[in-house]
Amino acid sequence: MNFELTPEQEMLKKITRDICKSFDDEYWRNIEKEHTFPTEFWNQCAEAGLIGVLISEEYGGAGLNITDAVIILMEIAKSAAGMDGASTIHLSMFGANPLFYHGNKEQLQKYLPDVASGKMHVCFGVTEPNAGTDTSRITTFAKKQGDKYIINGHKVFITKAQHSDRILLLTRTTPYDEVEKKTDGMSLFFAPLDRSAITIKEIEKMGRNGIDTNELFIENLVVDEFDLIGEEGKGFYYLLDGLNPERMLIAAEAVGMGYGGIERAVKYANERIVFNRPIGQNQGVQFPLADAYSHLRAAELLIYQACWLYENGKPCGAEANMAKLRASEAGFEAVDAAFQVFGGYGYAKEYNIERMFRMARLPRLAPITNELVKSFVAVKVLGLPKSF
Ligand SMILES: Cc1cc2nc3c(=O)[nH]c(=O)nc-3n(C[C@H](O)[C@H](O)[C@H](O)COP(=O)(O)OP(=O)(O)OC[C@H]3O[C@@H](n4cnc5c(N)ncnc54)[C@H](O)[C@@H]3O)c2cc1C
Repeated sequence: MNFELTPEQEMLKKITRDICKSFDDEYWRNIEKEHTFPTEFWNQCAEAGLIGVLISEEYGGAGLNITDAVIILMEIAKSAAGMDGASTIHLSMFGANPLFYHGNKEQLQKYLPDVASGKMHVCFGVTEPNAGTDTSRITTFAKKQGDKYIINGHKVFITKAQHSDRILLLTRTTPYDEVEKKTDGMSLFFAPLDRSAITIKEIEKMGRNGIDTNELFIENLVVDEFDLIGEEGKGFYYLLDGLNPERMLIAAEAVGMGYGGIERAVKYANERIVFNRPIGQNQGVQFPLADAYSHLRAAELLIYQACWLYENGKPCGAEANMAKLRASEAGFEAVDAAFQVFGGYGYAKEYNIERMFRMARLPRLAPITNELVKSFVAVKVLGLPKSF
């Protein structure tokens, strides 16, 4: 076991940290207030090659590992950016993942260099209002007509659709009632986000407003057969390959925000004098921070274990899910503890803690709720009977 980062990983961390330093609280507060995309931040990350980190060098990326992506996102989330910054990038990281593994050479050559360079923005279209967590119940349908597919349907909570050129879109190509196994009959497309066939309606939400989240109404979207990923009917299984890395990346963001919160709280607790002493001298202030910090460290180790398994081609579903579970709870606990340290000032926007608090709530819900993660662990890891 070696827990040390390599010199290259230390360098990656430094590059990321240096970029983040130029984007302070005020920059991110304005991004959130105005609901604008952080273009300047995106451009600097693109120039530094951070966006294409998981894409192989052959297609213009850095050809690095999931651990490297975790290091980048944790560092971004720890900074003033939080998930407002990290989520803009993670979509290009795992959104392209099923394409990378299951796309054909022509598709990879056509799309990956633009994804890696940051020129092409990508979003991820799975969730539907009437299916919820039960993805097998999606009804968005792709009907084959000659060498095209005509797609109709309704997606919800699609992040970054306003800025995306392509969407990794999960559809049914065989209706639910006609398949033997409920996860069969779904197909995955790297579809154009053609605004003449897709109405994109932004959902007003609690936080992470540097990046939009939307409802999509898809009406007769024409997609070339070329943009079908892999074989028709196997889309769900291709998607699964991208879900474990997605869990690890979100876990990294949750832990990063937690560390960021603790760092701010420690600084404040050392400086704020009440009853003639720094508030951080009180154990009532120290213990929640120490507790939360130790939980973050434990969650971080679980993330790295999941990464190691994934990089070594071993099953990592249990670890990836548990990492997301522990990281999202630890991240929220840490930001909440930090919030308390700031007293009334935590509630004031100026200190950015309330923004972090709103963002840190999200990983407990998405990309999968923690109830569903626990259900996975109970059934798949512990061997308890399936509840649904
Ligand atoms: C800000 C944001 C961004 C998102 N971005 C994207 C995106 O880019 N692309 C995308 O495809 N999706 C996205 N999502 C969707 C997200 O993945 C879903 O919201 C999430 O998976 C939960 O689905 P749901 O909201 O339909 O909840 P539901 O499935 O309706 O569940 C509601 C509640 O019931 C619980 N529940 C349901 N079934 C069970 C059960 N069997 N046992 C125990 N508890 C259960 C759930 O845990 C949850 O607490 C995003 C969501 C948010 C909030």
